Amino acid sequence: MPTLEKVLIANRGEIALRVLRACKELDIATVAVHSKADRELKHVLLADEAVCIGPAPSTESYLNVPAIISAAEVTRATAIHPGYGFLAENADFADQVEKSGFIFIGPKADTIRLMGDKVSAIQSMKRAGVPTVPGSDGPLTDDDGRTLEIARRIGFPVIIKAAAGGGGRGMRVVHDEESLPGAVQLTQSEAAAAFGSSVVYLEKFLQQPRHVEVQVLADGQGNAVHLGDRDCSLQRRHQKVLEEAPAPDIPSDLRQQVAESCINACLEIGYRGAGTFEFLYEDGGFYFIEMNTRVQVEHPVTEMVTNFDIVREQLRIASGRALSVTQQDIKFSGHAFECRINAEDPTTFMPSPGTVTTFHAPGGLGVRVDSHLYDGYTVPPYYDSLIAKVISYGDNRETALARMRQALDELVVEGIRTNTALHRDLVRDEAFKAGGVSIHYLEKLLEG
Ligand code: ADP
Repeated sequence: MPTLEKVLIANRGEIALRVLRACKELDIATVAVHSKADRELKHVLLADEAVCIGPAPSTESYLNVPAIISAAEVTRATAIHPGYGFLAENADFADQVEKSGFIFIGPKADTIRLMGDKVSAIQSMKRAGVPTVPGSDGPLTDDDGRTLEIARRIGFPVIIKAAAGGGGRGMRVVHDEESLPGAVQLTQSEAAAAFGSSVVYLEKFLQQPRHVEVQVLADGQGNAVHLGDRDCSLQRRHQKVLEEAPAPDIPSDLRQQVAESCINACLEIGYRGAGTFEFLYEDGGFYFIEMNTRVQVEHPVTEMVTNFDIVREQLRIASGRALSVTQQDIKFSGHAFECRINAEDPTTFMPSPGTVTTFHAPGGLGVRVDSHLYDGYTVPPYYDSLIAKVISYGDNRETALARMRQALDELVVEGIRTNTALHRDLVRDEAFKAGGVSIHYLEKLLEG
């Protein structure tokens, strides 16, 4: 059985610190790799070893595969944790890591590839009994007549999506028959330019859905469990802002059914590691949209309601062990929220890098803060603006929300601007407090 004696963390910021903490707890040595702009990152200072892998731009550092592999060789690391973003869902990177003799802490490269192509992902989900959005069930062809037939059968509005798309890009909503052929062509050429593949498909455009996702863990040895669901409907420009677990107001048999279909899919595709099945939820129906083959930003809300360490389990699975739990061992209790605190202007949302003069994290029962900030730390302008995740837990939704209100009121970040004020407003918003708002709610509120 392989052992994870030394893990190289191929990421930065709060998730690098999260992985480092899990390694330390398991007595696994750590290697931090960082750009020239990131020497002062908290996990770099705490890691057993640190290697600078390149200049500030991520293309030359955190996305620089040869530099990361060399750092692993030089430090004699045994495994690489990709975190989220950067190379986490890059199948070629996973291949390269394993070919170089290291353990990739994540699924097999082929699984990443399968799920990275949305058309093949949807097809394999359908086979496994996961509910999907009514759609073209495959790539659209040049035959406009055939495409129109599909759209008519499904009913307008429809959405044209790039098979290789990601990050909320490569999608176009079509409301009527006349604009369909043009929209298909335009999405195809945009997809070719942005993702190197012109393959597009079509599905029903749901008008007021919620974003509900299911967390899974599988060991690739025939065992898989789900850790319940999360609601991540509060989004701005397809970026999640505030998440909660469990998703409010979903009939428990339906919740159970969809989670079981995800386990089934994991077993069918031989899934290994932590993963998330993302769904749109509308009028009592779940519709699969994509699978994320990595740990997610919002994983802590699930950890709070299951009291289960997802990153530690990722490490265990990567070391070749079977899952440490069965489904019966997973107990769900209470409710949790997560607010993503970004270094950005609260009204224009422009990034606000700079030196943090004061950082005061909230605390108390049921409050968790995952953050790499400290007094005097300078937030560089080159990367994602996430600087802290404030997480609250309570026996029920109201208590968790009350603790979040208090935590946000206690949070002090000075020297840079943050979106804390937006979160303070959100947790006092009547519709949000009632639960179950759609993915368009936040943008409408911001326009208002
Ligand atoms: P990406 O990989 O770019 O994140 P997704 O397939 O996850 O792409 O879709 C991103 C977002 O686009 C969804 O969260 C939702 O807001 C919207 N979206 C995607 N498909 C549909 C659909 N069929 N109906 C309505 N909205 C959709």
